[in-house]
Amino acid sequence: MHIAIVGCGQLSRMLALAGIPLGIKFSFINDDDHQDTACVDGLGTVVALDENWRNDSSLEPLYQALGKLDCITIEKEQVDSELLVALQAHVKIYPNIEAIKACQHRLAEKKLLENLSIATAPYLHNVSAQLAMQKLNLPMVVKSCREGYDGKNQWQLKTTKDVEDFDLLLRESANNNPALEDYIVEAWVPFEKEVSLISVRSVNGEIAHYPLTENTHESGILKSSIAPARQLTDRQTQLAQAYMEKLLTSLDYVGVLAMECFIKGDELVVNELAPRVHNSGHWTQMGSVTCQFENHVRALCGQVLGSTELLGSAGMVNLIGTDKPPLEALSKSSKLYWYNKSVRPMRKLGHINFLAANQESLDRQMNELN
Ligand code: AMP
Repeated sequence: MHIAIVGCGQLSRMLALAGIPLGIKFSFINDDDHQDTACVDGLGTVVALDENWRNDSSLEPLYQALGKLDCITIEKEQVDSELLVALQAHVKIYPNIEAIKACQHRLAEKKLLENLSIATAPYLHNVSAQLAMQKLNLPMVVKSCREGYDGKNQWQLKTTKDVEDFDLLLRESANNNPALEDYIVEAWVPFEKEVSLISVRSVNGEIAHYPLTENTHESGILKSSIAPARQLTDRQTQLAQAYMEKLLTSLDYVGVLAMECFIKGDELVVNELAPRVHNSGHWTQMGSVTCQFENHVRALCGQVLGSTELLGSAGMVNLIGTDKPPLEALSKSSKLYWYNKSVRPMRKLGHINFLAANQESLDRQMNELN
Protein backbone atom coordinates (compact mmCIF):
# COMPACT_ATOMS: atom_id res chain seq x y z
CA MET A 1 0.00 0.00 0.00
CA HIS A 2 1.33 3.45 -0.96
CA ILE A 3 -0.32 6.68 0.25
CA ALA A 4 0.62 10.20 -0.86
CA ILE A 5 -0.17 13.13 1.41
CA VAL A 6 -0.65 16.69 0.15
CA GLY A 7 1.44 18.80 2.52
CA CYS A 8 4.75 18.30 4.30
CA GLY A 9 4.02 19.52 7.82
CA GLN A 10 3.81 17.86 11.22
CA LEU A 11 0.50 16.13 10.52
CA SER A 12 2.04 14.40 7.49
CA ARG A 13 5.01 13.46 9.67
CA MET A 14 2.82 11.88 12.35
CA LEU A 15 0.61 10.09 9.79
CA ALA A 16 3.70 8.51 8.25
CA LEU A 17 5.21 7.62 11.62
CA ALA A 18 1.98 5.81 12.51
CA GLY A 19 1.52 4.14 9.11
CA ILE A 20 5.09 2.95 8.41
CA PRO A 21 4.89 0.18 11.07
CA LEU A 22 1.82 -1.15 9.20
CA GLY A 23 4.03 -1.67 6.15
CA ILE A 24 2.63 1.33 4.30
CA LYS A 25 4.80 3.47 2.07
CA PHE A 26 4.37 7.27 2.07
CA SER A 27 5.14 10.08 -0.36
CA PHE A 28 4.51 13.79 0.12
CA ILE A 29 3.30 16.36 -2.39
CA ASN A 30 4.78 19.77 -1.70
CA ASP A 31 2.14 22.16 -3.08
CA ASP A 32 3.66 25.27 -1.54
CA ASP A 33 7.09 26.65 -2.55
CA HIS A 34 7.46 28.34 0.81
CA GLN A 35 6.78 25.22 2.81
CA ASP A 36 9.43 23.82 5.11
CA THR A 37 9.64 20.09 4.28
CA ALA A 38 11.96 19.15 7.19
CA CYS A 39 9.04 17.55 9.09
CA VAL A 40 8.92 14.66 6.61
CA ASP A 41 12.67 14.25 6.09
CA GLY A 42 13.51 10.57 5.71
CA LEU A 43 9.88 9.40 5.74
CA GLY A 44 9.32 9.08 1.98
CA THR A 45 9.76 10.82 -1.37
CA VAL A 46 8.91 14.51 -1.40
CA VAL A 47 7.73 15.71 -4.80
CA ALA A 48 7.38 19.41 -5.50
CA LEU A 49 4.37 20.39 -7.55
CA ASP A 50 5.47 21.92 -10.86
CA GLU A 51 4.21 25.49 -10.95
CA ASN A 52 2.94 24.87 -14.51
CA TRP A 53 0.72 21.92 -13.63
CA ARG A 54 -2.33 24.01 -14.45
CA ASN A 55 -1.12 25.17 -17.85
CA ASP A 56 -0.44 21.88 -19.54
CA SER A 57 -3.14 20.23 -17.39
CA SER A 58 -0.87 17.25 -17.01
CA LEU A 59 0.30 15.84 -13.73
CA GLU A 60 2.16 13.00 -15.43
CA PRO A 61 5.64 14.07 -14.19
CA LEU A 62 4.27 14.19 -10.65
CA TYR A 63 2.97 10.63 -10.98
CA GLN A 64 6.24 9.45 -12.46
CA ALA A 65 8.04 10.88 -9.45
CA LEU A 66 5.59 9.55 -6.88
CA GLY A 67 5.45 6.00 -8.22
CA LYS A 68 2.34 3.79 -8.07
CA LEU A 69 -0.14 5.11 -5.53
CA ASP A 70 -3.21 3.57 -3.89
CA CYS A 71 -4.70 6.84 -2.67
CA ILE A 72 -4.01 10.46 -1.77
CA THR A 73 -4.97 12.18 1.46
CA ILE A 74 -4.42 15.68 2.90
CA GLU A 75 -2.95 17.16 6.06
CA LYS A 76 -4.53 20.63 5.63
CA GLU A 77 -7.86 21.83 4.28
CA GLN A 78 -6.49 24.70 2.19
CA VAL A 79 -5.47 22.63 -0.83
CA ASP A 80 -6.36 23.97 -4.28
CA SER A 81 -9.55 22.10 -5.20
CA GLU A 82 -8.61 22.20 -8.91
CA LEU A 83 -5.43 20.33 -8.03
CA LEU A 84 -7.48 17.73 -6.17
CA VAL A 85 -9.83 17.33 -9.16
CA ALA A 86 -6.83 16.86 -11.48
CA LEU A 87 -5.26 14.31 -9.12
CA GLN A 88 -8.55 12.44 -8.80
CA ALA A 89 -8.42 11.60 -12.49
CA HIS A 90 -5.53 9.27 -11.58
CA VAL A 91 -6.18 8.03 -8.07
CA LYS A 92 -8.73 8.10 -5.22
CA ILE A 93 -8.69 11.06 -2.85
CA TYR A 94 -9.70 10.61 0.81
CA PRO A 95 -11.65 12.37 2.23
CA ASN A 96 -13.55 13.13 -0.97
CA ILE A 97 -13.23 16.53 -2.63
CA GLU A 98 -16.78 17.68 -1.77
CA ALA A 99 -16.10 17.08 1.93
CA ILE A 100 -12.79 18.97 1.75
CA LYS A 101 -14.43 21.87 -0.12
CA ALA A 102 -17.21 22.14 2.46
CA CYS A 103 -14.59 22.62 5.18
CA GLN A 104 -12.46 25.08 3.16
CA HIS A 105 -14.98 27.87 3.19
CA ARG A 106 -16.78 29.14 6.29
CA LEU A 107 -20.04 29.83 4.45
CA ALA A 108 -20.09 26.38 2.82
CA GLU A 109 -19.38 24.85 6.23
CA LYS A 110 -22.21 26.84 7.88
CA LYS A 111 -24.62 25.73 5.13
CA LEU A 112 -23.59 22.10 5.52
CA LEU A 113 -24.23 22.30 9.28
CA GLU A 114 -27.58 24.06 8.80
CA ASN A 115 -28.75 21.55 6.17
CA LEU A 116 -28.09 18.74 8.63
CA SER A 117 -29.85 20.63 11.50
CA ILE A 118 -26.59 20.85 13.45
CA ALA A 119 -26.53 23.72 15.97
CA THR A 120 -24.10 26.53 15.05
CA ALA A 121 -23.75 30.23 15.95
CA PRO A 122 -26.07 32.63 14.02
CA TYR A 123 -24.21 34.52 11.26
CA LEU A 124 -24.53 36.81 8.26
CA HIS A 125 -22.46 36.74 5.07
CA ASN A 126 -20.67 39.79 3.57
CA VAL A 127 -22.71 42.48 5.36
CA SER A 128 -21.54 45.61 7.16
CA ALA A 129 -20.82 45.26 10.85
CA GLN A 130 -23.48 47.91 11.47
CA LEU A 131 -26.19 45.79 9.84
CA ALA A 132 -24.92 42.63 11.52
CA MET A 133 -25.06 44.35 14.92
CA GLN A 134 -28.76 45.10 14.43
CA LYS A 135 -29.52 41.44 13.81
CA LEU A 136 -26.96 39.63 15.97
CA ASN A 137 -26.19 42.11 18.79
CA LEU A 138 -22.73 42.66 20.27
CA PRO A 139 -20.28 41.05 20.78
CA MET A 140 -19.68 39.53 17.36
CA VAL A 141 -16.72 38.00 15.55
CA VAL A 142 -15.85 38.53 11.88
CA LYS A 143 -14.15 35.57 10.19
CA SER A 144 -12.65 35.51 6.73
CA CYS A 145 -14.29 32.68 4.73
CA ARG A 146 -11.04 31.27 3.36
CA GLU A 147 -8.05 33.01 4.81
CA GLY A 148 -8.38 32.33 8.51
CA TYR A 149 -7.01 29.70 10.86
CA ASP A 150 -5.68 29.75 14.44
CA GLY A 151 -7.62 32.99 15.03
CA LYS A 152 -5.91 34.73 12.05
CA ASN A 153 -8.00 37.09 9.91
CA GLN A 154 -10.64 37.38 12.61
CA TRP A 155 -11.93 40.58 14.21
CA GLN A 156 -13.68 40.64 17.57
CA LEU A 157 -16.29 43.40 17.68
CA LYS A 158 -17.21 44.17 21.27
CA THR A 159 -18.22 47.84 21.17
CA THR A 160 -19.97 50.20 18.73
CA LYS A 161 -16.52 51.77 18.18
CA ASP A 162 -15.21 48.35 17.03
CA VAL A 163 -18.18 48.17 14.64
CA GLU A 164 -17.42 51.60 13.17
CA ASP A 165 -13.71 50.79 12.88
CA PHE A 166 -14.43 47.52 11.12
CA ASP A 167 -16.81 49.15 8.63
CA LEU A 168 -14.15 51.78 7.92
CA LEU A 169 -11.59 49.01 7.36
CA LEU A 170 -14.06 47.35 4.96
CA ARG A 171 -14.53 50.55 2.95
CA GLU A 172 -10.84 51.38 2.83
CA SER A 173 -9.13 48.06 2.31
CA ALA A 174 -11.61 45.41 1.13
CA ASN A 175 -10.24 45.67 -2.41
CA ASN A 176 -6.66 44.99 -1.45
CA ASN A 177 -7.18 42.65 1.50
CA PRO A 178 -8.20 39.15 0.31
CA ALA A 179 -9.31 38.29 3.86
CA LEU A 180 -12.08 40.90 3.61
CA GLU A 181 -13.39 39.93 0.17
CA ASP A 182 -15.49 37.14 1.60
CA TYR A 183 -16.33 36.85 5.29
CA ILE A 184 -19.02 35.99 7.81
CA VAL A 185 -20.06 37.99 10.85
CA GLU A 186 -20.94 35.60 13.65
CA ALA A 187 -22.74 36.09 16.97
CA TRP A 188 -20.44 35.67 19.96
CA VAL A 189 -21.12 32.47 21.91
CA PRO A 190 -20.58 33.01 25.65
CA PHE A 191 -19.19 29.52 26.08
CA GLU A 192 -18.06 27.82 29.28
CA LYS A 193 -15.59 25.57 27.53
CA GLU A 194 -14.41 24.42 24.13
CA VAL A 195 -14.42 20.74 23.22
CA SER A 196 -13.72 18.75 20.10
CA LEU A 197 -14.79 15.40 18.80
CA ILE A 198 -12.33 13.41 16.71
CA SER A 199 -13.97 10.58 14.80
CA VAL A 200 -13.05 8.32 11.94
CA ARG A 201 -14.96 6.53 9.18
CA SER A 202 -13.40 3.82 7.05
CA VAL A 203 -14.00 3.05 3.37
CA ASN A 204 -16.23 0.23 4.65
CA GLY A 205 -18.46 2.70 6.52
CA GLU A 206 -17.27 1.67 10.00
CA ILE A 207 -17.29 4.65 12.42
CA ALA A 208 -15.37 5.15 15.68
CA HIS A 209 -15.34 8.15 18.04
CA TYR A 210 -12.66 9.23 20.49
CA PRO A 211 -13.87 10.60 23.82
CA LEU A 212 -14.66 14.33 23.69
CA THR A 213 -11.55 16.46 24.30
CA GLU A 214 -11.49 19.70 26.30
CA ASN A 215 -9.36 22.41 24.68
CA THR A 216 -7.74 25.64 25.88
CA HIS A 217 -6.72 28.32 23.37
CA GLU A 218 -4.36 31.29 23.72
CA SER A 219 -4.52 34.07 21.11
CA GLY A 220 -6.71 31.79 18.96
CA ILE A 221 -4.09 28.98 18.97
CA LEU A 222 -4.66 25.64 20.69
CA LYS A 223 -2.52 25.55 23.83
CA SER A 224 -3.59 22.34 25.56
CA SER A 225 -6.10 19.50 25.48
CA ILE A 226 -7.32 16.96 28.01
CA ALA A 227 -9.39 13.83 27.52
CA PRO A 228 -11.93 12.94 28.61
CA ALA A 229 -13.44 16.45 28.75
CA ARG A 230 -14.69 17.27 32.26
CA GLN A 231 -18.30 17.57 33.41
CA LEU A 232 -20.11 16.94 30.16
CA THR A 233 -23.63 15.60 30.25
CA ASP A 234 -24.47 12.32 28.52
CA ARG A 235 -26.77 14.35 26.30
CA GLN A 236 -23.90 16.53 25.08
CA THR A 237 -21.77 13.51 24.26
CA GLN A 238 -24.66 11.80 22.46
CA LEU A 239 -25.49 14.98 20.57
CA ALA A 240 -21.87 15.46 19.46
CA GLN A 241 -21.66 11.85 18.24
CA ALA A 242 -25.04 12.10 16.48
CA TYR A 243 -23.95 15.32 14.70
CA MET A 244 -20.68 13.69 13.70
CA GLU A 245 -22.40 10.57 12.34
CA LYS A 246 -24.74 12.72 10.24
CA LEU A 247 -21.73 14.55 8.81
CA LEU A 248 -19.68 11.43 8.14
CA THR A 249 -22.48 9.51 6.43
CA SER A 250 -23.99 12.39 4.46
CA LEU A 251 -20.54 13.33 3.10
CA ASP A 252 -19.60 9.66 2.49
CA TYR A 253 -16.50 10.67 4.40
CA VAL A 254 -13.37 8.51 4.68
CA GLY A 255 -10.68 9.25 7.29
CA VAL A 256 -10.52 11.34 10.46
CA LEU A 257 -12.88 14.32 10.82
CA ALA A 258 -12.55 16.84 13.67
CA MET A 259 -15.49 18.89 14.97
CA GLU A 260 -14.79 21.83 17.32
CA CYS A 261 -17.66 22.87 19.60
CA PHE A 262 -18.62 25.37 22.28
CA ILE A 263 -20.30 24.19 25.48
CA LYS A 264 -22.83 26.65 26.85
CA GLY A 265 -24.99 25.30 29.67
CA ASP A 266 -26.56 22.14 28.32
CA GLU A 267 -26.08 23.29 24.71
CA LEU A 268 -23.47 22.15 22.24
CA VAL A 269 -22.77 24.60 19.40
CA VAL A 270 -20.53 23.50 16.52
CA ASN A 271 -17.85 26.08 15.67
CA GLU A 272 -15.67 24.51 13.01
CA LEU A 273 -14.85 21.32 11.11
CA ALA A 274 -11.43 20.09 9.99
CA PRO A 275 -11.31 17.33 7.32
CA ARG A 276 -8.12 15.78 8.66
CA VAL A 277 -6.25 14.61 11.72
CA HIS A 278 -6.33 17.42 14.27
CA ASN A 279 -4.11 19.02 16.89
CA SER A 280 -6.74 18.38 19.57
CA GLY A 281 -6.36 14.65 18.87
CA HIS A 282 -2.59 14.46 19.44
CA TRP A 283 -3.13 13.08 22.97
CA THR A 284 -4.37 9.85 21.33
CA GLN A 285 -0.73 8.97 20.54
CA MET A 286 -0.26 8.12 24.21
CA GLY A 287 -3.75 8.11 25.73
CA SER A 288 -5.63 5.76 23.43
CA VAL A 289 -5.25 2.16 22.28
CA THR A 290 -5.02 3.41 18.67
CA CYS A 291 -4.01 6.97 17.80
CA GLN A 292 -5.88 9.21 15.37
CA PHE A 293 -3.02 8.95 12.85
CA GLU A 294 -3.07 5.16 12.69
CA ASN A 295 -6.86 5.13 12.50
CA HIS A 296 -6.82 7.60 9.60
CA VAL A 297 -4.46 5.27 7.74
CA ARG A 298 -6.50 2.16 8.65
CA ALA A 299 -9.66 3.93 7.43
CA LEU A 300 -8.08 4.65 4.03
CA CYS A 301 -6.83 1.07 3.69
CA GLY A 302 -10.22 -0.44 4.57
CA GLN A 303 -8.80 -2.25 7.57
CA VAL A 304 -10.75 -2.71 10.77
CA LEU A 305 -10.45 0.47 12.88
CA GLY A 306 -8.36 0.23 16.04
CA SER A 307 -9.95 0.70 19.46
CA THR A 308 -10.40 4.35 20.48
CA GLU A 309 -10.58 3.40 24.16
CA LEU A 310 -8.84 5.70 26.66
CA LEU A 311 -5.90 4.33 28.63
CA GLY A 312 -6.28 6.82 31.52
CA SER A 313 -6.53 10.60 31.90
CA ALA A 314 -4.72 12.01 28.88
CA GLY A 315 -3.39 15.46 28.04
CA MET A 316 -1.36 17.40 25.50
CA VAL A 317 0.48 20.72 25.65
CA ASN A 318 1.62 22.42 22.44
CA LEU A 319 5.15 23.78 22.25
CA ILE A 320 4.69 27.14 20.54
CA GLY A 321 7.78 29.13 19.55
CA THR A 322 10.01 26.98 21.83
CA ASP A 323 13.57 27.27 20.53
CA LYS A 324 14.73 23.66 21.10
CA PRO A 325 13.25 20.30 22.15
CA PRO A 326 12.64 20.73 25.93
CA LEU A 327 13.90 17.29 26.94
CA GLU A 328 14.47 18.48 30.51
CA ALA A 329 10.68 19.01 30.86
CA LEU A 330 9.93 15.31 30.44
CA SER A 331 8.66 13.21 33.32
CA LYS A 332 8.14 9.44 33.72
CA SER A 333 4.66 9.67 32.24
CA SER A 334 5.08 12.24 29.50
CA LYS A 335 6.47 12.05 25.97
CA LEU A 336 7.88 14.66 23.64
CA TYR A 337 7.03 14.90 19.93
CA TRP A 338 9.32 17.39 18.15
CA TYR A 339 8.43 18.26 14.55
CA ASN A 340 11.88 19.18 13.20
CA LYS A 341 10.64 22.56 11.93
CA SER A 342 12.65 25.76 11.87
CA VAL A 343 11.92 27.90 14.92
CA ARG A 344 9.66 30.96 14.55
CA PRO A 345 7.65 32.87 17.15
CA MET A 346 4.04 31.59 17.54
CA ARG A 347 4.84 28.51 15.45
CA LYS A 348 3.75 25.06 16.64
CA LEU A 349 7.08 23.22 16.93
CA GLY A 350 6.15 20.16 18.93
CA HIS A 351 3.95 18.88 21.73
CA ILE A 352 4.16 16.92 24.96
CA ASN A 353 1.63 14.18 25.75
CA PHE A 354 0.73 13.09 29.28
CA LEU A 355 -0.96 9.99 30.65
CA ALA A 356 -2.05 9.73 34.29
CA ALA A 357 -4.14 7.44 36.47
CA ASN A 358 -6.67 10.20 37.22
CA GLN A 359 -7.56 13.81 36.50
CA GLU A 360 -5.86 15.24 39.63
CA SER A 361 -2.56 13.61 38.78
CA LEU A 362 -2.87 14.78 35.14
CA ASP A 363 -3.56 18.38 36.26
CA ARG A 364 -0.51 18.29 38.56
CA GLN A 365 1.78 17.08 35.78
CA MET A 366 0.48 19.54 33.20
CA ASN A 367 0.71 22.46 35.66
CA GLU A 368 4.34 21.59 36.39
CA LEU A 369 5.16 22.14 32.72
CA ASN A 370 3.44 25.54 32.49
P1 AMP B 1 -11.96 29.52 14.88
O1 AMP B 1 -10.91 29.98 13.92
O2 AMP B 1 -13.37 29.64 14.37
O3 AMP B 1 -11.66 28.14 15.42
O4 AMP B 1 -11.85 30.50 16.16
C1 AMP B 1 -10.69 30.56 16.97
C2 AMP B 1 -11.11 30.73 18.43
O5 AMP B 1 -11.85 31.97 18.57
C3 AMP B 1 -12.07 29.65 18.93
O6 AMP B 1 -11.38 28.53 19.38
C4 AMP B 1 -12.77 30.39 20.06
O7 AMP B 1 -11.96 30.44 21.23
C5 AMP B 1 -12.90 31.81 19.52
N1 AMP B 1 -14.21 31.98 18.81
C6 AMP B 1 -14.43 31.80 17.50
N2 AMP B 1 -15.72 32.02 17.18
C7 AMP B 1 -16.34 32.36 18.32
C8 AMP B 1 -17.69 32.71 18.67
N3 AMP B 1 -18.66 32.78 17.75
N4 AMP B 1 -17.96 32.97 19.98
C9 AMP B 1 -16.99 32.92 20.91
N5 AMP B 1 -15.70 32.60 20.67
C10 AMP B 1 -15.37 32.33 19.39
